[in-house]
Amino acid sequence: MSITVVKFGGTSMADAKSITQVANIIKQDPKRRYVVVSAPGKRFSQDHKITDMLYACYHDLQINGECKATFDKIRERFRGIVEDLRLDLDIDSYLDQVESDMLKYNSAEFCASRGEYLSAVIVAKTLGYTFIDAKDIMIFTENGDFDAESTNEKVKSVLSEVDRAVVPGFYGGDSAGIVHTFSRGGSDVSGAVIARAVNAELYENWTDVNGFMSADPRIVDNPRPIAKLSYRELRELAYMGANVLHPESIFPVRVSNIPINIRNTFNPSAAGTMIVAELDESELKNRVITGIAGKKGYSIIYIEKSMMNGELGFVRKVLAVLEYYNISFEHLPTGIDTMSIVVAENELAGKEEVVIERIKKVVAPDHIEIKSGISLVATVGHGMSYKPGTASALCGALAKANINIRMIDQGSSELNIIVGIATADYEKAIVAIYKAFEDKAV
Ligand code: ADP
Ligand code: ASP
Ligand code: MG
Repeated sequence: MSITVVKFGGTSMADAKSITQVANIIKQDPKRRYVVVSAPGKRFSQDHKITDMLYACYHDLQINGECKATFDKIRERFRGIVEDLRLDLDIDSYLDQVESDMLKYNSAEFCASRGEYLSAVIVAKTLGYTFIDAKDIMIFTENGDFDAESTNEKVKSVLSEVDRAVVPGFYGGDSAGIVHTFSRGGSDVSGAVIARAVNAELYENWTDVNGFMSADPRIVDNPRPIAKLSYRELRELAYMGANVLHPESIFPVRVSNIPINIRNTFNPSAAGTMIVAELDESELKNRVITGIAGKKGYSIIYIEKSMMNGELGFVRKVLAVLEYYNISFEHLPTGIDTMSIVVAENELAGKEEVVIERIKKVVAPDHIEIKSGISLVATVGHGMSYKPGTASALCGALAKANINIRMIDQGSSELNIIVGIATADYEKAIVAIYKAFEDKAV
């Protein structure tokens, strides 16, 4: 029988009611044999995610050598869930163990991982599925790098012996048994890794929205849901801040072209979004853009020098400075006499002056400055390569909204156009671009 791997996010795990809903969804389809879960998320907007509380515990541990007050709140959350689910599970003994292990291992990653661990113990018990600890099957190196190939072999062999299992997302372990985590939102990656290993027909990613929207629903009212998008479009949108799915989730599934289906736990009849390897040409031609996403927190290192283009090695010398200071960059649009290097603010923090001085020394620019407070907005879609005038429509929409474009970069793949704008204009820019393409999108 073909297999569907399902991953449920934080809101789906938030309380007993949502976990019951999750169990119903899983039971509705016998193909849903392997389940990956996140830690309980927020139940209401002022609530705290368990993962955030666990990081807070680690912080308390560093300062006070204990974290009882914060851990007691976590304990209450889990006790409440188990009680409301009426599970015959001694959650207190798990919680006691977690509390003492947190002291023993004293690592942020170990502390953070315990939300997924406990969540999976509860869901396994609810479903009557086998609990498999991610520490034993998701393999990391001792440096904390994920080892995709060893993991694939391990998961394949372990799960071939287990008919139905629940695996905690977000973390794994190294050969010494030390826990490591992916970056935030990483349970999406865990689900994708397992989907690849068991050669799933489908990877369902269940969250709290009706699918991938063409813009962030917290910024644009009722953005259109995207019925279908390609792995590459997903990667661009997710990397640029559409955090409905972790940007690294596509790497495992694209090895075997496993489609990802984003679904809504709280509205399971909605078809959601399908993310597939390639779109048909007919699908591409029907839409100009697929979606818009963005991120705050960038700076632009802006350099001017007459005849820069003729100067052999100019860009290399500038980039060598960034490399020397261990700064990675995001975009590098150049003109005949100008170049802009877009860098995340936190990469550059504290190094601004030395970087400017060193660039001045190596290439003697006519002018160099750092423009900070920049946000990037990416407009993404394969369809734009079929439609001339996309960039001008986008710039026109921003001009009409009185937004100054500080940088523009059309990716070499003709898949996206990225603009840098002042962070104060961020939300306004997304709304303006969305409106400009409203009728021409999905
Ligand atoms: P989960 O806990 O299920 O993994 P996340 O909070 O990580 O869920 O992701 C879902 C959230 O992503 C949504 O609630 C929504 O607020 C946000 N989001 C941001 N951009 C988009 C988008 N383009 N489409 C849908 N949701 C988006
Ligand atoms: N619980 C982790 C986080 O909050 C991982 C995840 O939910 O995917 O980032
Ligand atoms: Mg998520």
